[in-house]
Amino acid sequence: MKNMNETILVVEDDAQIKNYICYALKQEGFQYLTASTAQHALSQLVSEQIDVLLLDLGLPDFDGMEVIARLREWSEMPIIVVSARDQDKEKADALDAGADDYLTKPFSSTELLARIRVAIRHMYKEGGNNGQHYVFTGGLGIDFDKHLVYLDGTEVHVTPLEYSLLALFFRNVGKVLTTKYIIKEIYGIGYGTDTQALRALMSGLRRKIEKNPAKPRYIHTEIGVGYRLIDE
Ligand code: CA
Repeated sequence: MKNMNETILVVEDDAQIKNYICYALKQEGFQYLTASTAQHALSQLVSEQIDVLLLDLGLPDFDGMEVIARLREWSEMPIIVVSARDQDKEKADALDAGADDYLTKPFSSTELLARIRVAIRHMYKEGGNNGQHYVFTGGLGIDFDKHLVYLDGTEVHVTPLEYSLLALFFRNVGKVLTTKYIIKEIYGIGYGTDTQALRALMSGLRRKIEKNPAKPRYIHTEIGVGYRLIDE
């Protein structure tokens, strides 16, 4: 995937990490801009043509969360948050505030580029793929018209709630969905943050769609944050 026309804004105050990211982007043929503060990031988001935002949360002037909140007032551009390993709560909050994905430091350039590609693919999908009724990833497929689930070409019998859960993932293939978001979407507001019911629902679904539910191929657990349907 060379000669990409997309421009990435890299917001990172750690020079070493910033250089590492920029080198990887350059190797891959991406164009990029950089910012070391939230203020500078916001001014570039307003004035430049940017396609994907790569955002460190711990910035010197104000929090990256603030950048997400402000950007979401006027733009739907993909936001990938970069944060440290021990900040699970922060990652979940960032996703709930409107970020699309996150990378945990330290990360490899392969991981970084894969996430950016997924973000870009989503950006184009949102525009053109709305009328799609049958979607699949690997051998797992869903028919939105008939409310059916297929695994390797065979229909899988799921409960209405399991279908709703899987449909939610299929509307967000490749994206991390936070536990809080899933509970709100599946059970509705007011259900609180009871994760027990979701965990039970998830394990039931996994028994039906995963060959080895202990090592899921399709729906991965993002520890401390939520779940992700893998884009195969
Ligand atoms: Ca930082």
